[in-house]
Amino acid sequence: MPEFRKALLRRAAPVRLLLMDCDGVLTDGTVFFLTTPDGSVAETKGFDCHDGIALRWVRDVGIDTGIITGRGGLAVQVRARSLDMRYLVEGRTDKVECFEEILQNAGLKASQVAYVGDDLPDVPLLRRAGLSVAPANARPEAREAAHWITPSRGGRGAVRDAIELILTAQGHWQGILDRYMS
Ligand SMILES: [Mg+2]
Repeated sequence: MPEFRKALLRRAAPVRLLLMDCDGVLTDGTVFFLTTPDGSVAETKGFDCHDGIALRWVRDVGIDTGIITGRGGLAVQVRARSLDMRYLVEGRTDKVECFEEILQNAGLKASQVAYVGDDLPDVPLLRRAGLSVAPANARPEAREAAHWITPSRGGRGAVRDAIELILTAQGHWQGILDRYMS
């Protein structure tokens, strides 16, 4: 196994909490404004099913999940609730403070947290997290700050890639494969 992969697995082994940005990570970054003839506007976005099932697998093995997003909205709230996420922080741009508050609440060290982010506001968290991951579509600054850039893009399996790495590092991946492949 290449040294780079071994180092990543070492970083992923102690992870107890997976925190993610939303737009560009759990989605492809597109925000839809649904307009109606009466003039009302609803905002929505699309999420990825491959990420969704994997977000259940991590919960099954006792790893908590959460979203820190500057934007937020009903679609994100529904997604977080449906996947039993422990943390949802929305509408805040001070991501470092949010990150520190969550760590304190969870009683975890930064080395026990994985963070997935794609843009400049995520860089400070990518630098702090024990395992930091950027999707393939991330801005150059986020890619530079991350320990790993996933093959998949945000909203197209990037979170799934990150979760497979964590589950592999913690010895759960083969069991999940066996559940479906045997
Ligand atoms: Mg983003």
